[in-house]
Amino acid sequence: EQLTRAGAGDPERAAEAALRPRGLGDFVGQPQVREQLSLVLDAAQARGRAPDHVLLSGPPGLGKTTLAMIIAHEIDKPLRVTSGPAIQHAGDLAAILSSLEEGEVLFVDEIHRMSRAAEEMLYVAMEDFRVDVIVGKGPGATAIPLELPSFTLVGATTRSGLLPAPLRDRFGFTGHLDFYSTEDLHRVLVRSAGKLEIAADSAGLQEIASRSRGTPRIANRLLRRVRDWAQVRGDGTIHEDAARAALRVYEVDELGLDRLDRSVLQALCRRFRGGPVGLSTLAVSVAEEAETVEEVAEPFLVREGLITRTPRGRIVTDAGWRHLGYEPPEAPF
Ligand code: ATP
Repeated sequence: EQLTRAGAGDPERAAEAALRPRGLGDFVGQPQVREQLSLVLDAAQARGRAPDHVLLSGPPGLGKTTLAMIIAHEIDKPLRVTSGPAIQHAGDLAAILSSLEEGEVLFVDEIHRMSRAAEEMLYVAMEDFRVDVIVGKGPGATAIPLELPSFTLVGATTRSGLLPAPLRDRFGFTGHLDFYSTEDLHRVLVRSAGKLEIAADSAGLQEIASRSRGTPRIANRLLRRVRDWAQVRGDGTIHEDAARAALRVYEVDELGLDRLDRSVLQALCRRFRGGPVGLSTLAVSVAEEAETVEEVAEPFLVREGLITRTPRGRIVTDAGWRHLGYEPPEAPF
């Protein structure tokens, strides 16, 4: 709900919020995480306690925020939403924690980007439901303990390895979200098309699903773009041909690679002759931040078998060369 309000001025965010599944039963795919999470929640309910803290990891757009909302919905408690970059001072975190209601779910997106001082405060809060507020400075400073209501922290991160071990260890459960199969994305799209009252046939949705980089957020976004095309250039219905033509306009290729993916692959092939090349050099050459290349483009390119990560850097596979229409070079020895 908070996200809906925060996104009121942003049509993309608002459209996204409208399509979020509300309960665990509506959440498509990720059967393991769903099963594990439903056990954690049911057991906590049966004991009448707040569920253990939950860490969700995985590339952007796979449903971490959605799952946090679902957790709050399933245990019928309010949800507070914040993010690591928004918590720069320990005081910011103390203010949030001390205003929580009993049993509330606190969602911290990009939890790996919190400041060190806030992180240390969070350890204590997660374990003992207490914060130590420091009053004064220097040798005269004293820590005043402040009792907190019990709460469930849901942290989201693109890779759980980015978190310091002491923080990671304080989560009772870690769910790893993986890219979705085309079948699952097809189900996401059937549901979304129904909700948005978009006319589409199964083959049309299949075409979108297979080009959505295994990511529900992208599937939902492409669905809206293809609808635009179908309304303006087509007969109003999403058929396979309409999906293909529209996705060509938006520069999404058959594998679902978008501009960033392709420019990373292109740079690796042409500028670095297939690699190996280090992440920061690669990022500079495509004018992107290293984190974006590493967290957004790379996981998908690796999953598709187009590049591999080696200790010496990233290299293009034969499939990667061929995807761009090049003949792979002969092995040097
Ligand atoms: P980020 O970390 O970038 O915020 P995220 O992993 O939190 O991304 P969400 O915002 O939860 O991703 O999901 C993005 C969109 O995808 C939402 O609109 C949601 O409706 C849809 N979505 C995600 N997962 C599912 C799912 N399993 N079933 C149906 N829709 C989903």
